Amino acid sequence: MTDTTRPTVVLAGGGHTHALILKRLQKGQKPPAHFVLVSASRYTAYSGMLPGVISGHYTAEQSHIDLELLANESKCTFVRATLSGVDTEANELILENGNRLQYDILSINTGSTQARVIDAKDIISIKPIGSFLFWLNQLLPEHIKQNDSFTLVIMGAGAAGIEVALALHQRFEHLHSLKIHIVTTRGIMPGHPIKVQKMVIEEIERKPIKIHTNFRVTNVKDKTLTSDQNEHLRYDALILATPAAPARWPSESTLATSSQGFIQVNSTLRSISHDNVFACGDIAEFIHSKLVKSGVYAVRQAPVLFQNISNLLEKKTLEPYRPQNQFLSLLSCADGRAIASRGCFTARGRLIWLWKDWIDRRFMAQFPLPAPGSMELSASIQS
Ligand SMILES: Cc1cc2nc3c(=O)[nH]c(=O)nc-3n(C[C@H](O)[C@H](O)[C@H](O)COP(=O)(O)OP(=O)(O)OC[C@H]3O[C@@H](n4cnc5c(N)ncnc54)[C@H](O)[C@@H]3O)c2cc1C
Repeated sequence: MTDTTRPTVVLAGGGHTHALILKRLQKGQKPPAHFVLVSASRYTAYSGMLPGVISGHYTAEQSHIDLELLANESKCTFVRATLSGVDTEANELILENGNRLQYDILSINTGSTQARVIDAKDIISIKPIGSFLFWLNQLLPEHIKQNDSFTLVIMGAGAAGIEVALALHQRFEHLHSLKIHIVTTRGIMPGHPIKVQKMVIEEIERKPIKIHTNFRVTNVKDKTLTSDQNEHLRYDALILATPAAPARWPSESTLATSSQGFIQVNSTLRSISHDNVFACGDIAEFIHSKLVKSGVYAVRQAPVLFQNISNLLEKKTLEPYRPQNQFLSLLSCADGRAIASRGCFTARGRLIWLWKDWIDRRFMAQFPLPAPGSMELSASIQS
């Protein structure tokens, strides 16, 4: 596997940025290096389509990239393994299976998970998306069948929590025994324009979904959430849709990390502590500007990352990544309509959904997808 004549570039994690780097390796001049992709799973999810998978608009296969096939097409070695650390002195990735992988240049694109704001065993996290879909398809229907009434509580009212709540309602609309609640310490879609917040509240109010704002959970016991105002909410299933949080391993390594544990990078996507390490997408945090965790940024970082890996290999100056000030947000209402916003522009309706559907399908059309029906949503799929 190791090519001793050329440096090794290890791409750790098959997030949006690395998937696009692999596409770029298929075009034009390939940087003079041996590329290795390390991914916890053969498939990686495109989260923009997740609400559509939940509501039944798309199959799981339509929303996942086949990384192994993509790596093969890009002449990149594919290693299916979960990384659990980095030994920056030895320039080695530490894998969960006990193996180590040498690198000359390392790029990290392992995404994020949901902040674990409460301590309870039976929480369902939206990420990894593969595990969430396994729960949704295999476990949840059984649980619902065993109960006369079933209460699903979603913690978090950011875009992800709202889209998942609307999509779950759409999927189980026929089940009158199912109740959906959203709890949030703050309001609905904090950080989004007021017009969008109002539209989202209207969408929720049209459906039997109950929102509990200013509900700060202080205790979880016997499948009951208790707030600091001493309100109680019983649940049968609790879904975490809290803000993005990093895995623990970066802050346990010698890489410089933020107080939350994201890998700190400068404007060139390079680690501020290690010159041969890059980080991108959700796991990266810029020291000069804090970006919201969004796939849009992960996608836009791909050309700069590709250029900077090439420049580092050729000992040239690195280029800065300049994030756009505004970007288009498209939120699925799960019923064939969507809400769009960009700066002070907002719109809602069927045409917006068709626009979102077109953008998402066009993005995925660049990549090899798992064959229809081939993706077994087993608990071991971590995407
Ligand atoms: C429900 C929902 C809907 C969303 N909708 C949108 C949207 O419409 N538009 C938008 O811009 N953003 C959206 N987001 C945010 C978006 O998901 C993230 O910002 C985006 O996925 C970040 O991409 P990434 O490239 O950093 O990593 P990801 O796309 O999360 O990929 C990380 C990859 O790394 C792998 N990995 C993780 N840990 C390891 C490890 N230790 N070892 C090996 N591999 C590992 C994972 O399996 C995964 O394949 C949504 C999020 C959610 C939860």
